[in-house]
Amino acid sequence: MLSIALKVPRHCQLASAAAAAAAAAAAAAAAAARRSFSSTVTTLQHPSSYIPEPVGNKIAFAFDIDGVLLRGKTAIPEAKPALELLAAHKVPWILLTNGGGKSERERVDELSHLLDFPIAEPQLVQAHTPFRALAQTYHRILVVGGDGDKCRRVAEEVYGFEDVVIPADVVRSDPSVWPFHRYSPEELATIARPKRLYEPESGEAKIDAVLVFNDPRDMGTDVQVVLDLLLSQHGYFGTRRDLHLTHNKNSQVSAPTINDLSIPSVPIYFCCNDLLWANNYRMPRFGQGMFRITIERLYAEMTHGAQLKTTVIGKPFEHTYRYAEQVLNDWRAKRFGGQAALGPEHTVFMVGDNPASDIMGANNYGWYSLLVRTGVFRDEDLATIVAQPKQILDNVKEAVEFGIAHGLQV
Ligand SMILES: [Mg+2]
Repeated sequence: MLSIALKVPRHCQLASAAAAAAAAAAAAAAAAARRSFSSTVTTLQHPSSYIPEPVGNKIAFAFDIDGVLLRGKTAIPEAKPALELLAAHKVPWILLTNGGGKSERERVDELSHLLDFPIAEPQLVQAHTPFRALAQTYHRILVVGGDGDKCRRVAEEVYGFEDVVIPADVVRSDPSVWPFHRYSPEELATIARPKRLYEPESGEAKIDAVLVFNDPRDMGTDVQVVLDLLLSQHGYFGTRRDLHLTHNKNSQVSAPTINDLSIPSVPIYFCCNDLLWANNYRMPRFGQGMFRITIERLYAEMTHGAQLKTTVIGKPFEHTYRYAEQVLNDWRAKRFGGQAALGPEHTVFMVGDNPASDIMGANNYGWYSLLVRTGVFRDEDLATIVAQPKQILDNVKEAVEFGIAHGLQV
């Protein structure tokens, strides 16, 4: 069990763009000082030969999945050769994805099949993997997103949450909660469970937190149900907190201020902030970040403009990289033995396709960022992307070749 705990009360808020940029600049400067090779963006010169000795004690890799190893359900052709190269050189690596929606076991089985390369469960960090640390904090949660009841099963059976409600339960209890819901009678009979939801006098009906595990499949229902809870009286469905503002400072009435309203009735956690991601479609698609923006905007509409406080994990946030580094160290020790922790002279190469998540997070954390051209990034966007990579490469195999060739210089 990993020891990093998610800070619970209350909110590691999404950093502002300015703060993120400043942090990125500071981290980039620190990383540059620790490393000898250039941080300018260049196109890779293919190394003509590889050093035959194992280099795993010097370097490690973390890979994004969508747009790096896969597009949709199709393997990117260079993915398998890249992983074979790492195996040949005994280099440890993990997968660090903002995706999820299923258990880690199910995901590695699927990836091993699609990539035709064996991947172990301890090598995978999904967007919601760090949520397992919250199972000791919250008794009853609302889990949002994913197919059917898969995320509920992950939360209960893998992460150990005691009581998990999903929006389908709320619809089953009273379909008028969102009359345009997309659940079939069969789904409501199979994935939804009877739950106590409308008894404010009963502690059992209270929801302690909202955890967004994956992109919504029934957006209308999820938006309505989540906002109902955020605006509820202490986390009880069918109630509404006082939303009247105090305009007079000397008022004796205990109405909330705009700052009070920015704190929702139950905390909400998002595990992926990606606005865009790459699948088989010719253009990037909206990701979970769209859902967060939708929730925040509607919350502001309902609360006189209050800015909803949320907790967002996943790339590019430090918490997730810190968690991933522990996973990488654990995997390195398990797979190769010896000292678990990567020493200060070691380099972790983060290979990703999304500057706003993979690259920004790697730069901030002091990992060496490698941006590939097989996903959401387009060369014409280079001048305006929010985080500049250390290198840009055509694909994941070139990224691995670069790391192996340059890692020995560290
Ligand atoms: Mg990606």
